[in-house]
Amino acid sequence: MEGLPLESLNSVGNCPTLVCTPILGTTVAQMLIQMRRANEIGADMVEIRLDYLRTFNPTPHLQTLISQSPLPTIVTYRPTWEGGKYEGDETKRQDVLRLAMELGADYIDVELQVADDFNRSICEKKPHNFKVIVSSHNFHNTPSAEAIGNLVARIQATGCDIAKIVTTASDITDCAHIFQIMVHSQIPTIGIVMGERGLISRLLSPKFGGYLTYGALEEDAISAPGQITVKNMLELYNFRLIKADTKVYGIIGKPVGHSKSPLLFNAAFKSVGLNSVYMHFLVDDVEKFFNTYSSPDFASGCSCTIPHKEVALKCMDEVDPIAKKIGAINNIVRRPDGKLIAFNTDYIGAITAIEDGLRGLDGAVPVVGSPLSGKMFVVLGAGGAGKSLAYGAAQKGARVVVANRTFERAKELAEKVGGKAMTLSEVESFHPEEGMVLANTTSVGMKPNIDQTPIPKHALVHYCLVFDAIYTPKDTKLLRDAKETGAAIVYGTEMLIRQGFEQYKNFTALPAPEDLFRQLMEKHA
Ligand code: NAP
Repeated sequence: MEGLPLESLNSVGNCPTLVCTPILGTTVAQMLIQMRRANEIGADMVEIRLDYLRTFNPTPHLQTLISQSPLPTIVTYRPTWEGGKYEGDETKRQDVLRLAMELGADYIDVELQVADDFNRSICEKKPHNFKVIVSSHNFHNTPSAEAIGNLVARIQATGCDIAKIVTTASDITDCAHIFQIMVHSQIPTIGIVMGERGLISRLLSPKFGGYLTYGALEEDAISAPGQITVKNMLELYNFRLIKADTKVYGIIGKPVGHSKSPLLFNAAFKSVGLNSVYMHFLVDDVEKFFNTYSSPDFASGCSCTIPHKEVALKCMDEVDPIAKKIGAINNIVRRPDGKLIAFNTDYIGAITAIEDGLRGLDGAVPVVGSPLSGKMFVVLGAGGAGKSLAYGAAQKGARVVVANRTFERAKELAEKVGGKAMTLSEVESFHPEEGMVLANTTSVGMKPNIDQTPIPKHALVHYCLVFDAIYTPKDTKLLRDAKETGAAIVYGTEMLIRQGFEQYKNFTALPAPEDLFRQLMEKHA
């Protein structure tokens, strides 16, 4: 499927997308507490899942639940044959749904399989403003947009008010099928793709005119795989600000859910009133992702993390020359003409942090150009971060030495940057001069091995500044040792945060909100 349509809201979907919280208590008392909580946290409506109740006395229980709900109600009594918990008689189940309608429920959700008969049975009696949602759940995969379109037509033919299609993601691009359907549907439509790969279908519902989306009360109270909390929807992803023309950014990775980038970028976008949102993109196939989401306002810019930093290079139209040399990218911008341009902001983040560290050294004379120029710069490690540091330092005129456990990798990188190679164990006795700069990019000392260090403490006396790319923990053993030997230190968190500044500038052409980023990093470390 090529590019998603830019005009996003369809003619029937011109109301803001509602946030509905599933109420999953096993007693009526629990459900009442949950409904009040849903109201407090900002949901617009609740879905009362009767099939979760351990004991259920239809008339009094429905009366209590519906009349005491602080929010509009959807009543759902999901049978096991559609993924729910109700195992009893089908006629009784449908009687309960009809009773819910009579007792004032705002919506009922009925399954496509029985919807024709059910809708016929209530058509004379439907109260004003009462709506029937007809739903179809696929727990295996996401069919083609055409097949889903046919399904929506079948749902519409039942005479319902709202169509609900729920599928399962095997790839993030499956969400595009649901987006297309939501845009083109003739009746209000709810489209959800379940699973972590379907996250964007939940969050981008307002962009494509979805009638509602579901948000959980708590992380452990979800009614479907991939559901996120209302709190995260509203606070982390600024759901209420998402509109048809909102630009979509995100971080591509696998795994990606741990990334704090959405927290930083969404807060930054909001602080300057940018109509943009940034989300987690769990991507398996980068090329397929960019081919599918190819319109200028979708995947307008991406951060890129493990394992895609190298593979993504091949999908780019243009690559920044240093990023090309490093062989890895972490920042992608889609130009208005659709072309993808890539950068490596890791090296900029690390090198500017080290330069500032050198500038701050006691007694340092102001230097014209980079304070790294002419310095002996020892890089430990020759992986992704090692390449960024080695190329970055070489570009600033440093004399680079690459030391790595696997000597061959050190040699290869050293040759590329015009430096010297050695094994990691040789660094201990390497001190041709004083005042050198050391940059650790190995994972030695990273959580949980926090008592390890790549180089003994006594060898640090020859360095005026020590940088560690590791940021978990912030204070590594290497940096603690370096502090004690009197060297200046630069934290890995500084590289992390500065590479974020660069990404923000590339995405928006605006100055990065540095204080905001720093406060958020501190608060959520
Ligand atoms: P990578 O590509 O997998 O490279 C890992 C490097 O560590 C290789 O040079 C590897 O040597 C070396 N290494 C691993 N285990 C070792 C051991 N037990 N003894 C000696 N050397 C060992 O990983 P990366 O992406 O470069 O990341 C490396 C570190 O930098 C990680 O801690 C990561 O969190 C951090 N990092 C930080 C930032 C930031 O913003 N602060 C950004 C990127 C990365 P061999 O070649 O011999 O395997």
